[in-house]
Amino acid sequence: AVTDIHQILQQVVNDFRMIHPDFTFTFDDALEGETFVRMYRNHVEQVLIILMDNAVKYSTSRKEIHISAANEEEGVAMAIQDFGEGISPEDRKRVFNRFYRVDKARSREKGGNGLGLAIAQQLIENYKGTIEVDSALGHGSVFRVNLPVITSNQAAELRRQANLAEQKMKSTEIH
Ligand code: ATP
Repeated sequence: AVTDIHQILQQVVNDFRMIHPDFTFTFDDALEGETFVRMYRNHVEQVLIILMDNAVKYSTSRKEIHISAANEEEGVAMAIQDFGEGISPEDRKRVFNRFYRVDKARSREKGGNGLGLAIAQQLIENYKGTIEVDSALGHGSVFRVNLPVITSNQAAELRRQANLAEQKMKSTEIH
């Protein structure tokens, strides 16, 4: 599967602007045109929604989220930064574990299972990407995601092959 991550990013940021009008979302977008990753559209979307959702959920006072995206040597580099409660160094080691939640009592009020980040990490690693967190307790967190990209020629070739395969399937269907 091939997906234009630039388009998905713009869409997810706009969706969040609509859903959370009390928040300010700034998008520092250094991507130029289509940026292709070899990933299912739903998977790209799910990763971004998990990170954006957490940024909103764990920001109580300063309702501001910074998103950035740029092309780097290793692929597309994205960051989602909030100015919320932050995560201690001890907890940072565990937030990607399944069912891990920092403050059990407080977290219960916010809802969730502690699965979001584990799912995001799994999806990203399946596509040879990386995810990491940087944070200062009481000041906020930034989640950085890197994903390998393919050229538009490679994307076109992969789509052509997928179409051919689909046509072949259809032509051999029994009517
Ligand atoms: P869900 O399963 O609905 O995603 P969740 O938000 O608890 O629930 P994760 O997304 O896996 O699960 O996050 C794990 C824990 O990491 C959270 O419970 C929270 O304590 C902490 N956390 C995640 N993102 C942030 C953030 N941006 N700021 C502060 N803490 C965070």
